[in-house]
Amino acid sequence: MVRVAKFGGSSVASAEQFRKVKNIVDLDDSRHFVVVSAVGKADKDDNKVTDLLYLCHAHIKYNINFDNIFKMIEDKFINIKNELGLNYDIEGELAKLKSEIKKGIDEEYLVSRGEYLTGLLMAEYLGYHFVDAKDLIFYNYNGEIDYLKTQNAFDNIIKEHDRLIIPGFYGSRPTGEVKIMTRGGGDVSGAIVANIADASVYENWTDVSGILMADPRIINNPREIKVISYTELRELSYMGASVLHEEAIFPVRDKDIPIQIRNTNNPTAEGTIISDKKCASSDQIVTGIAGKKDFSIITIKKRHMANEVGLIAKALKIFAKFNVSIEHIPSGIDSFSVVVETNNVRPFIHELVAKIKEEIGADEINVTNEIALIATVGEAMKNTLGVSARLFGALGKVGVNIALISQTNDEINIIVGVHNRDYEKTINTLYDEFK
Ligand code: ASP
Repeated sequence: MVRVAKFGGSSVASAEQFRKVKNIVDLDDSRHFVVVSAVGKADKDDNKVTDLLYLCHAHIKYNINFDNIFKMIEDKFINIKNELGLNYDIEGELAKLKSEIKKGIDEEYLVSRGEYLTGLLMAEYLGYHFVDAKDLIFYNYNGEIDYLKTQNAFDNIIKEHDRLIIPGFYGSRPTGEVKIMTRGGGDVSGAIVANIADASVYENWTDVSGILMADPRIINNPREIKVISYTELRELSYMGASVLHEEAIFPVRDKDIPIQIRNTNNPTAEGTIISDKKCASSDQIVTGIAGKKDFSIITIKKRHMANEVGLIAKALKIFAKFNVSIEHIPSGIDSFSVVVETNNVRPFIHELVAKIKEEIGADEINVTNEIALIATVGEAMKNTLGVSARLFGALGKVGVNIALISQTNDEINIIVGVHNRDYEKTINTLYDEFK
């Protein structure tokens, strides 16, 4: 059995956190491949190394002295080294980096140094072999992972070393330069390593004991989800639940490798397992509830529209021309609505409406703003009678007006649109109903 263990920024934020990581890794012999993020926040007033590196770059760009910020980065690494009694010449690495910065440095390369330096220290501390991600994770010219090249590199490395530390968040372009991922990309690196290592489990160690059924800022102490499918997680992440980088699912899903979300600060907790092989015995119908505020509903009306073939397509083309992504399209007989994020249409909403009116000869177009969308997600909803009756009944009882309903035939997700001001009330009500 081989496990890939990825430790996020808060799990490597201090010498104390490094110790916890070592305990976890030492506890199970199957944790052969460890992926690390950059040193993160040790407490809520602290700063992430990645943010500080971005800040250094912004300073250089505008020719402002960056010594103080760089010092904060140096202190973090040097403190960890000294507290753990490590030998690696991290001071030398930092001095080299500082002189590279002064000569003018590529932003992506600079930002990737957070995970690089963290990986170097962790490698010595765990006694694992350090692999620079630029020699392992390869991109092709389309910006996608070149799995063939990445797999080859991995196979060659493990001929000689069977315990590896890999910095997350970056790889290399076909031309050899460093390419970083989007923020939180260490999750994606971990998933890629799990894929090429054919891991039995991809452990994602963070600072929460699993994925919660609802947003803890709204629900007091929500229950933890024990098992969730990739599809359910995707629906919940899309709707604002943030646990794992959205793209971290694809590399492991292809190989049916379960992801286990675990807590570095509470390593005995089971956490949440993300897998398509959910056990059917769970009596939980709804897996999670998530939502987002600030959508707009654009409702287009035209008499006898039902008889005009291609009318909706014409209207949607206009949204595409304005480069607006569409969330939902609920429709009636002689009207249909298009739901979009308000921010995505704000600058040109009047132009957009005028264009649609002109193009399809609409009788009336109304725009309703301040709409929140709330998704109730659960694969067990399919074929379970009465779920929507309970959902709408509960909202009716507390006086929440529903402006929009959307459910596709796979029955995994019921989305309701309510006024922004009813957002918290809706989530509370649905959580109470289905917890
Ligand atoms: N260090 C990067 C970030 O802060 C990537 C990561 O932590 O996964 O976004």
